[in-house]
Amino acid sequence: MTLIETPVALVWHRRDLRVSDHPALTAAIDWANQHHGSVVGVFIFDVGILESGQTGGAQVTFMLGCLAQLQQSYRELGSELYFLRGEPISCLTQFSAKINVKAVFWGEDIEPMALERDCCAKQSLADLGIAAFSYLDIDLVAPDQIWTKTEEPYRVYTPFWRNWSQQPKSLPYPKPDRLPLAETSLSEKIAHSDAEVMQLPNLTEVQNNWGFVWEYDLPESGETAGLALLNEFCDQAVYQKLFRYGTERDFPAISGTAQLSPHLRFGTVGIRQVWAATVMAEAQVRSDEELKSLTTWRQELAWREFYHHVLYHFPQLADGPYRPQMAGFPWENDPDKFAAWTAGQTGFPIVDAAMRQLNQTGWMHNRCRMIVASFLTKDLLINWQWGEQYFMEHLIDGELAANNGGWQWSASSGMDSKPLRIFNPSFQAKKYDPEATYIRQWLPELRGLTTAELLSGDIPPHQCQRCQYPLPIVDHYEQQQKFKTLYRQAV
Ligand code: FAD
Repeated sequence: MTLIETPVALVWHRRDLRVSDHPALTAAIDWANQHHGSVVGVFIFDVGILESGQTGGAQVTFMLGCLAQLQQSYRELGSELYFLRGEPISCLTQFSAKINVKAVFWGEDIEPMALERDCCAKQSLADLGIAAFSYLDIDLVAPDQIWTKTEEPYRVYTPFWRNWSQQPKSLPYPKPDRLPLAETSLSEKIAHSDAEVMQLPNLTEVQNNWGFVWEYDLPESGETAGLALLNEFCDQAVYQKLFRYGTERDFPAISGTAQLSPHLRFGTVGIRQVWAATVMAEAQVRSDEELKSLTTWRQELAWREFYHHVLYHFPQLADGPYRPQMAGFPWENDPDKFAAWTAGQTGFPIVDAAMRQLNQTGWMHNRCRMIVASFLTKDLLINWQWGEQYFMEHLIDGELAANNGGWQWSASSGMDSKPLRIFNPSFQAKKYDPEATYIRQWLPELRGLTTAELLSGDIPPHQCQRCQYPLPIVDHYEQQQKFKTLYRQAV
C-alpha cells in the first residue's frame, strides 16, 4: 500500500505545455471521475535530450517560462504538476509506482526517438499493471490518417495539402474548470513520499548547473502569451494580420507572420485552437484577396503537418539525406567559413543580418531561413546537417521535423520535386528587403551605407574596413557554378 490510497491518473506533459484544448488531460479527467481518482501532471527533464546538443539556451529558457505557467495552471485547477529529471522511462515508472498511478495519459509524438520511447513506456507501464493512453495532439490530421491513391505515404506537398485540407478537423477541447483530486492531502502526501520530485529549476541553476546560457530577451512564453498571439493574428476585426499575410509574409522587416512557431513547438497553443481561429476569421472574409491570405496561412500549417507526416513514415530523414545520391556529396566543410556563417560575418549583408537575428532572438524569419540555408549549402558548400544542428541549438522553435524538412529542401537533398534551387543573396535582398530596413536593423555597423550597397553586397573595401565589416568570403557566381557541377556529378 502506498501513502496514496485513491487511484491517480497521471498526465505526462512533453510538447503540450497547456491545459486548454488538451485531449490527454480531458481523457485523464474522465478516467479519474469514473474511478473516483485524482489527476496530477508530470514533466520529465530528459537528460538524453538535454545532453544531446539538440537544444540550447534560448529554447530551454523559453520552455522554463512555459513550465512555470503550466504549474501555475495546475495549481489554479486544484492539482499539481511535478518535475522529474533523468531517463524518462525509469523516472515515469518509478514515480507512477510510488504514487499509486493507475493510468498515464499523453499526446502522441511523431519523432523517431520519441516513438520508440513511448512504445517502451507503454510496455514498462503495462509490466507494472498501469494502463497507458495516448492521443493525437500535435496535428489536426494524424500522420497515418491520409495516404496517396496507391496507399503510400505522401512525398510531395501539393497532393498532401489537397487531401489534408479535405479532412475533418476536430474542435478544441474545453479548458477544465477543476482537476479531480479525490484525496485532499494528495499533494502533501506526494511531497512526503520517496518519489524523487524536484523544484522547477530557475534560470541561474539552468545556466550554472546545466550549462544553458541565454543573455537576450525572448518573446513571452506560456499558454496565455501563445493564445494572445493567436488572437492578435487571427482577430480580423482589430488587427487584420491574417488577411495581410499573403502580401506581407515574405518581408523580414515587417512583422507579417504569426510568430507562433515556439508556441506550436511547445504546445502552449493547441493546434485545434489555431484551426478554430482560422474558421472564425473565414466568416469575416470580404474579398478574394483576404481568402487567399487565409488559405496561404492554412497551407503553412499544412507544411508543418506534411513534415510530421514524412518524418513519421521516413524516420531515416532524421539521420541523413532523403535522396541517396546526396549521401556522398563532396561537401567542403571549411570550419572557418562555417564560423563566419554562424557569427553573421560572411560579408553578405542579408545573410549576416539573418544570422544575427537568430543569435540575438532565437528566431529567424522564414524567408531568411531559406536564404541562409541556401547560402551555407550552395555558396559555402557546407553539409546541411551542420546548419540543421546549429539551428536546433539556437532556435526557440527548433523542431526536428520542420527543421530537417527546411534544411533538406534548401540543400537539394529532400523530397522537393524541383530540387536544384540556388538563392542569390543579392536578388533576395532586393526583392524582400527593398529598403534594406532589415539589414540595417541587424547590422548596425553598416547603417551609414547606401541602400544600393547594402542590397547588392558590393561594399567598397575601404568602407568595409571603416565599418569593421568583412569582405565577401566567397564569390556567389563561382560557388553556384561549382555547386551545380558537383550536383550533376552526384545525382
Ligand atoms: P507563420 O508564417 O505565421 O506560419 C504559421 C505556422 O505554420 C508556423 O508557426 C509553423 O508552425 C508553420 N510553418 C510555417 N512555415 C513552415 C514551413 N516552411 N515548414 C513547416 N512549418 C511551417 N519551423 C519550425 O517550427 N521549427 C524549425 O526548427 C524550423 N526550422 C526551419 C529551418 C529551415 C532551413 C527553414 C527554411 C524553415 C524552418 N522552419 C521551422 C519553418 C518556418 O521557417 C517557421 O515555422 C516559421 O518561420 C515560423 O514563423 P511563424 O510562426 O511566424 O510562421
